[in-house]
Amino acid sequence: MAQHFLLSSAARTLSIASVARMSDEEAREAFRLIRWSETQGAPVCPRCGCLDHYAFKTRHLWKCKACSHQFSVTSGTIFASRKLPIRDYLFAIAIFVNGAKGHSALQLSRDLDVQYKTAFVLAHKLREAVAAEAKDKTVAGDVEIDGGYFGGYVKPANLKDNRRDRRRIVNQSGKRRVVVVMRERKGRTLPFVFKSEDASLSTIGQRIQAGSTIFADEATHWDVLHSRYLTKRINHSEAYSDGEACTNMAESFFSRLRRSEIGIHHHIAGPYLNAYAAEMAWREDNRRISNGLLYLAMADAALKHPASRQWTGYWQRSTKQ
Ligand SMILES: [Zn+2]
Repeated sequence: MAQHFLLSSAARTLSIASVARMSDEEAREAFRLIRWSETQGAPVCPRCGCLDHYAFKTRHLWKCKACSHQFSVTSGTIFASRKLPIRDYLFAIAIFVNGAKGHSALQLSRDLDVQYKTAFVLAHKLREAVAAEAKDKTVAGDVEIDGGYFGGYVKPANLKDNRRDRRRIVNQSGKRRVVVVMRERKGRTLPFVFKSEDASLSTIGQRIQAGSTIFADEATHWDVLHSRYLTKRINHSEAYSDGEACTNMAESFFSRLRRSEIGIHHHIAGPYLNAYAAEMAWREDNRRISNGLLYLAMADAALKHPASRQWTGYWQRSTKQ
C-alpha cells in the first residue's frame, strides 16, 4: 500500500525548532522577503506604492521619499500595531499550520506564553487572512453541495420529567446554523453559513458557474437547482454513492470541521462559525501540501492582507466580554 502523504518526508519540510531559533533580525528578514516577494524584498510604500525610501536602520523603519510615510515590515498588514516580538508571529504561523484539525487559542497561548485573548485574536487574524483568498471566488465543473449543522446545543434537563422534545422548534435555542459547502471535485472548497439550507440557493447561484454539474442529496430544496444546472442526486437513505452521484467530498470537509469542533475547539458556533469553516476549507484544499509551503502560504496571506477591521483592537473595543 502506498504511503500516506502525511507520513512521507515530503510533508515535513518545516521545523518549528528552526523557527524558534530565529533571531528577531532573521525573522524581520523573512517577513521582508515574503511581504515584498515581487520586488525581491525591496520595501514598497504601503501608502503610495513608491519604491524610493530612506532607511532608519536602528528603528527598523523606512520613510517613503514620495509621501514621507514611515512604515515597518508589518505596517499595513494584518500584523499592524503588533505587540509581540516579530519572531513570535512566524512561530505562531508554524504552529498553527501543523494542526490538521486546527489549533485552539488556549493551546496557542501556552505555546507562545501570551494571554488567551492575544492568542485568540492572533488565530482569528490568521483565519481572516487565508479566508480572504476565497473571497469572490467561484467554483465550476463537478461541484458537490451539502449542508452540516453546528451550534445551538440545548442541554437536556437532569430529571426525565423535565425533559423536552429537542426536535421541536419551541424547545430549540434558535442559534443553530448550517454550513453549506460547495466543493469542486479536485478543486476549491467554498463554505457559507446560513440559518437553513434552503437560504443558500441564491449564494449557490452566484458562486457556482453556469454549465457546472451539481451533485446533491435528496433534500427537496435542492430540486430548483435542476432548472439551472445539470444536477445529479443521491438518496442517502439508499446509498452514499451510486457510482455516479455522491457528495463524499463535501462530507470530507464536514468531517474535518466536525472533528475540529469536537476535538479542538469544543464550541465553534455563533458569529465565528464562518471563520472556522473557512479555515477548515483552506486546510482541506491544502491537505497534500507540505507544512513548509503552508507556512509560507499563510505568512504570505497575512502580510498581503490589510489590517483587520474586525480584529484590530478587538479587546479594547469589545464591550460584550
Ligand atoms: Zn509613499
